[in-house]
Amino acid sequence: MRIFNFSAGPAVLPTPVLEKARDELLDWHGRGMSIMEMSHRGKDFTGVIEAAEADLRTLMGIPSNYKVLFLQGGATQMFAQIPMNLLAGGTADYVVTGSWSKKAIKEAQRVGKARLAGSTEADAFTRLPGVGELSFDPSAAYVHLCTNETIHGVEMFDLPETPAGVPVVADMSSHILSRPMDVSKYGLIYAGAQKNIGPAGLVIVIVREDLLGKAAPTTPTVMDFSVMAENGSMLNTPPTFGIYLAGLIFKHLLAEGGLAAVEAANVAKARRLYDAIDGSGGFYRNPVAVDCRSRMNVPFTLADGALDAAFLAAAAERRLEGLKGHKSVGGMRASIYNAMSLEGVDALVELMQDFAARRA
Ligand code: PMP
Repeated sequence: MRIFNFSAGPAVLPTPVLEKARDELLDWHGRGMSIMEMSHRGKDFTGVIEAAEADLRTLMGIPSNYKVLFLQGGATQMFAQIPMNLLAGGTADYVVTGSWSKKAIKEAQRVGKARLAGSTEADAFTRLPGVGELSFDPSAAYVHLCTNETIHGVEMFDLPETPAGVPVVADMSSHILSRPMDVSKYGLIYAGAQKNIGPAGLVIVIVREDLLGKAAPTTPTVMDFSVMAENGSMLNTPPTFGIYLAGLIFKHLLAEGGLAAVEAANVAKARRLYDAIDGSGGFYRNPVAVDCRSRMNVPFTLADGALDAAFLAAAAERRLEGLKGHKSVGGMRASIYNAMSLEGVDALVELMQDFAARRA
């Protein structure tokens, strides 16, 4: 019996995908071995990575002038690797809307010049900056955003207005594939896999071709996006099993009706959970401004923090796990990624209501 897993990542994956991976584990397509055991250069694996890329392109509507890279190192490595590849001796603008974009600018500043274009830290990252609070440099190499802050539960539904011609770079780690996104609005999109894509160890980069070829000369070869693009993400051995699993997820999402259908399910799940929080008479509280509440990561506190441990214990009794909030914000956090069912959200809402009724 599988638990209801609300972990922020690594996170729940769709059961049918895990079952398929299990069924193919010892003998992939009659080859007498698993994907993990075969050469990345052989035609079998080449077919796997090509299908994964083609399916991701279909799912996200990725235009043909963008490259898709399947890399290692996680989103944290990209915090450094992106400025190495895109700064070209210039400056980048960073919008800081939570812990992850704050880490991203710090790391970029180790590599080169990164400027703070605006921050909501003074409001504990509970909202997005308004137009008047952002100041962009029209000659910046790029503007960096984190479009879903996993810890603070703040999601961007509209991009801020940025200077024409300055590419937007987005960390979409915790909401990629949760809804249709217009890829053409971005110069580069990146996402660690371990939420909506697959297992940890894989990071996906979608980059507009004109941004390639600008890496600082000191950039290690394996970190140069253009070299990786020229080599089909296989300059060295890629994370083959992660790519295989990501490919299964992409096929699964296509079969479910694509990202419009995925979004409809996510809207319903998020509404149910936020309604339960807002309708609890103050027993539970989400601090984020309503227009930027994340559909993927829902932090909430109990009015009486002394009840946190009892709440988590009651959750565990019902096999609801991963609800403890990030240590920097406390309270609870329910991550309701694509693979979390409405049934799982209902089980959480029921727990919240029962717990409140007993303790209020
Ligand atoms: N960015 C965001 C938005 C994240 O949620 C995370 C991980 N939770 C990271 C970056 C860092 O990812 P990784 O641990 O794969 O480096």
